[in-house]
Amino acid sequence: MNSHFVISSLGYPRIGENREWKKLLESFWAGKTEEEGFEAEMKKLRLQRLQKQRELGVELIPVGDFTLYDHVLDTSAMFGLVPSRYGYAGGPVSLATYFAMARGSKEAPACEMTKWFNTNYHYIVPELGEAEPRLVGNRPLAAYLEAKNELGIDGKPVLVGPFTFVKLAKGYKQERFAELVEQLVPLYAQVLRELEQAGARWVQIDEPSLVTDLTAAELAVLKSAYKQLSSAAPGLNVILQTYFEAVSAYQTVIELPVKAIGLDFVHGREGNLRALREFGFPAGKTLAAGIIDGRNIWRSDLGGKRQLLEELAAIVPGERLIVQPSCSLLHVPVSLAREEKLDATLLGALAFAGEKLGELAVLAQAARGDGGEAAAEAIAASTRAVAALNASPARSGAAADVAAAKSSRALPFAERQQLQETRWQLPLLPTTTIGSFPQTAEVRKARQLWRKGEWTEAQYDAFVQEQIRVWIGLQEDIGLDVLVHGEFERTDMVEFFGEKLDGFAFTQNGWVQSYGSRCVKPPVIYGDVRFSGPMTVKETVFAQSLTAKPVKGMLTGPVTILNWSFVRDDISRKDVTYQIALALREEVDSLEAAGIGMIQVDEPALREGLPLKNADRQTYLDWGVESFRLATSTVRDTTQIHTHMCYCEFHDMIDAISALDADVISIETSRSHGELISAFETETYDKGIGLGVYDIHSPRVPDKNEMLSMIGRALRVLPGRLFWINPDCGLKTRGQAETVAALRNMVAAASEARLEL
Ligand code: GLN
Ligand code: ZN
Repeated sequence: MNSHFVISSLGYPRIGENREWKKLLESFWAGKTEEEGFEAEMKKLRLQRLQKQRELGVELIPVGDFTLYDHVLDTSAMFGLVPSRYGYAGGPVSLATYFAMARGSKEAPACEMTKWFNTNYHYIVPELGEAEPRLVGNRPLAAYLEAKNELGIDGKPVLVGPFTFVKLAKGYKQERFAELVEQLVPLYAQVLRELEQAGARWVQIDEPSLVTDLTAAELAVLKSAYKQLSSAAPGLNVILQTYFEAVSAYQTVIELPVKAIGLDFVHGREGNLRALREFGFPAGKTLAAGIIDGRNIWRSDLGGKRQLLEELAAIVPGERLIVQPSCSLLHVPVSLAREEKLDATLLGALAFAGEKLGELAVLAQAARGDGGEAAAEAIAASTRAVAALNASPARSGAAADVAAAKSSRALPFAERQQLQETRWQLPLLPTTTIGSFPQTAEVRKARQLWRKGEWTEAQYDAFVQEQIRVWIGLQEDIGLDVLVHGEFERTDMVEFFGEKLDGFAFTQNGWVQSYGSRCVKPPVIYGDVRFSGPMTVKETVFAQSLTAKPVKGMLTGPVTILNWSFVRDDISRKDVTYQIALALREEVDSLEAAGIGMIQVDEPALREGLPLKNADRQTYLDWGVESFRLATSTVRDTTQIHTHMCYCEFHDMIDAISALDADVISIETSRSHGELISAFETETYDKGIGLGVYDIHSPRVPDKNEMLSMIGRALRVLPGRLFWINPDCGLKTRGQAETVAALRNMVAAASEARLEL
């Protein structure tokens, strides 16, 4: 292939090489930085990332993807879509109002936040249906002009498209979908016109909702919207950008009157390639091909990518190809530059945002044929690096041996339940908690001292034991029925296990934005996951030695560990999850052998991993459920398996949840006012349910009657024998005094409710 294609990028991390962005935001919120200085520093960061992308060879540099919190919130603000509770009087949205929507203020709680498709990024949910949208500031234009004036960069403004924006919003009934999109279209048209007048040549309109299942009516709305937009700014080249999956309704999408269509050939590779081969690609259009994984941290085998490009070029000639990452690089860490501790083979097989753009530059050079030896060598080096990790002892190539592994409990639940009742002799409506107790400054300090080597292992262990002792005492005093050790030794429910299992690595600086200024550093699953020794037995057994009440062991489930990590991509996610499950099973067995008879395996992230297309969901749920069962089925009939799922829409997952065959599941009940309970009101759900009767996300101590009415509501729907009483999640973010007070009220509410049974 000898051609010239254009290199583009869909978005770049905001957080900065050293998380400067986060630090700036937090300092501003804390009142330590004035607004003027804050804006100036943010501008510097914004321009630095543009320069960086230019240096790395990006030709269509995205502008306007930078944000002070979230790009969806930016879109709401640009259209003046501020709910009335923030006292907004029109005009450009002030920083104070913007952050009040994001984070809440004294006057009004924050807007809802939810996951951006199937990623771990969270956006602020737009609220429609109140005020009419108006264009109160052309944000993309400002970004375009800034890049042009300050750096001479003719950037490519990025917008969340009207279709996706309304799809992701709330506050309206489905019948109004078309009308709401129609309302926004003229405003988008104005944005585009002004961009065209300012000299912009390209604009990227993100419509990731086009990869989800869409109805014919929705597609009609889409067509009408883009028809109007195309006539608004005929001189502007619009890239209609999709990502995270193959586009649905391929034929409709490629016929939309835009200059270019952006497709994901990593996460939607099969579907998009199939459609491309079957239906071709319109002659007048450009294909923006996402070929470098924008969501994972692995270096690409550029030899393979070259082949993919050749395959694409056979259908769409090189001069109509834009080559780019599969999605915004917002989902990967900034740069490998500061990773100094990783094993060389692993490090050699990684690529963060900067390195990924470097990969595109190599491919472009090779395609143009002007890179000479260097490009060919870079491609060969990438193939060698990927092969080296694949050949390393960490990756045995053997799939998890699940065929012979037991994945059903010996007895059905109804029979286990009787045996468990006899063994445990718990009262009706037994009380418990979800696992963690307050991680105070003292606890975090101790862990740091130990990590830095200033404390010996023995000192740290003694400290943790002391915390456990205090909290076992408190739990007994409060009168809880099933106790926990409190998770004081854990920073994070995935990292803790990752550090103790084989196959995980931890970066020094691999941060990605989760929401607002909050960044996470996901563990890297790079090799075969294996159990290498007990992980939780010491603390759990110690806790049990202090009390005659049962202590519940506490593990993170296989699917949650998977979904909150960066995962190797040489084998399927299912196979990785099975490996984790088999490793956790050894932990479950170890706990049981050490005398622990109740074990909770948390799966708060089960729902998060649901595929974007309905047709793929059952397969995912099947292996997700199977992995939970692999981890928990070897125990004795009298051993009680618990699970926990926080807030979660259960309605469409109840069969899967039931198939987990956990003896007890604790769920959120308080914020949804019992709505979730009705999901369990099916003939198929007949196992224990822990009612999360109070919201742990607020320091407020709910009183007994409030919780009592919550319990009453549940009892009207399902028989009392099934229920347990607990908070709705772990208590690690709470203080001690409020936790003790709330749990006392909870225990009082449970005792009173028992009298009614
Ligand atoms: N056991 C964990 C805890 O109590 C569960 C956390 C979660 O569900 N996210 O913190
Ligand atoms: Zn939870």
